[in-house]
Amino acid sequence: ILLKEVDPANLQPRAPIVVVMGHVDHGKTKLLDCIRDTDIVSREAGGITQHIGAYQVEKNNRKITFLDTPGHEAFTAMRARGARVTDIAVLVVAADEGVKPQTVEAIQHAQEANVPIIVAINKIDKEAAQPDRVKGELGEFGLVPEEWGGKTIMVPVSAMTGQGIAHLLEMILLTADMENLRANPNREAVATVIEANLSQNLGPVATVIINTGTLRVMDNFVVGSTYGRIKVMKDQTGHAVESAGPSIPVLIAGIPVTPQSGDILHAMPSEQIARQQAVSVMLLKEADIIKKRGIGEIISQISSGQLKQLKLVLKADTKGSLEALKQSISQIKNESVGVKIILSGVGNITESDVMMAAAGGGIVMGFNTTIYSNVKKLSERENVEVLNYNIIYNLLDDIKKILTGLLEPEIIENILGRAELKKVFLTEKKEMIIGCKVISGHVENKTKVRVFRNGQLTGEGVINSLKSFDKAAHDVNEG
Ligand code: GDP
Repeated sequence: ILLKEVDPANLQPRAPIVVVMGHVDHGKTKLLDCIRDTDIVSREAGGITQHIGAYQVEKNNRKITFLDTPGHEAFTAMRARGARVTDIAVLVVAADEGVKPQTVEAIQHAQEANVPIIVAINKIDKEAAQPDRVKGELGEFGLVPEEWGGKTIMVPVSAMTGQGIAHLLEMILLTADMENLRANPNREAVATVIEANLSQNLGPVATVIINTGTLRVMDNFVVGSTYGRIKVMKDQTGHAVESAGPSIPVLIAGIPVTPQSGDILHAMPSEQIARQQAVSVMLLKEADIIKKRGIGEIISQISSGQLKQLKLVLKADTKGSLEALKQSISQIKNESVGVKIILSGVGNITESDVMMAAAGGGIVMGFNTTIYSNVKKLSERENVEVLNYNIIYNLLDDIKKILTGLLEPEIIENILGRAELKKVFLTEKKEMIIGCKVISGHVENKTKVRVFRNGQLTGEGVINSLKSFDKAAHDVNEG
């Protein structure tokens, strides 16, 4: 919504933003390094290229922005936060190894996000390279090269010798032209946080890529539920810059707390408006966190007709059981709702699976899989339902129940009220005494509470005793 432009006449072409994905050791990092090294622009500028999370190179007098963190994990994590920054995915497949499990995963992540894929068939300098075999293998996943009558651009390259890299960049530009990527440089900036950390002398710093508009030093902004003012802005060569337009990555300082990748930064006309905006974002976020809880929301959206498709991440212990499950799921018939498997694979449920479901608003189902505690924790934080089964029938039955609304949500939430935390009087291991002001509804003794800070859920608990002034109370009303 933020990127919407009323008058298309204001739009100007912008550089494509590219992510590199593929199986481990197929040469993603090497490719990114090789592309950066071919670029003379930043070297001529006299700076030393800094790793700020993204960089731009020039080809045929046009710019291309690359995200410097390869892999689909970072890409999908950003998407799960609502960011839509990537225009094109370059899928790196080693010509000597061919399609591997993470290649397939990367394809599914890009396809689910509707991001066009260009295949870079890498390591063609190697004797064992078989580019045609790679092309054949990719066909199974809907990627057919143009020369075989398909639509996918496939470029043989070597990140080692640099062979084919120039052609790959040209193909990226060609794809960008077909996508008609545009933005309005003459408006307040909207940017996406690519990476962020705490700098010793600048405080929290973040690399952002401008989605639209122009970001300037001294601009007020909101990012997530905090606000600030751009104090310092640096480009990829480490030079200070005054402004940055669409698709340009810059490092900024002036943020009160370290944001997360995928957070959206929005320039504001004044500090006051930025502050107001930050507060309303915080309230929206709290509401959203509560609403998004668990499978209940998906079921109620299906029941009310808002959701027409159940998105499913499916993992199984063996290829055989996975194929059997896919087959059975494809036969589940429901008049109004379909099932779409957005990611499937053999193996345990991973954090990446959970993020995929989070980004797509779906659920994760495993057959004979193990759910490790880090995955469980992540699923709780992202409000993604992760279910495991040992009997195929039960898995299929649950899908049917979800589609027909028969799987009742286990928990129905009833929000009683909200209070603002004013003071912490005592902190013990399992208990705190806090002073609050009730700002809406009422607060009731022995009920459950969630604590939010800056729109982020920071704790949960139960009210053990409630007092108004020094009198014990059953409930306390607004004000
Ligand atoms: P990543 O895990 O996908 O980021 O892979 P890397 O970029 O780390 O590359 C893995 C290994 O393959 C490294 O030893 C690279 O030097 C090597 N490599 C990458 N690209 C090429 C290539 O085009 N040709 C050859 N021969 N080796 C390559």
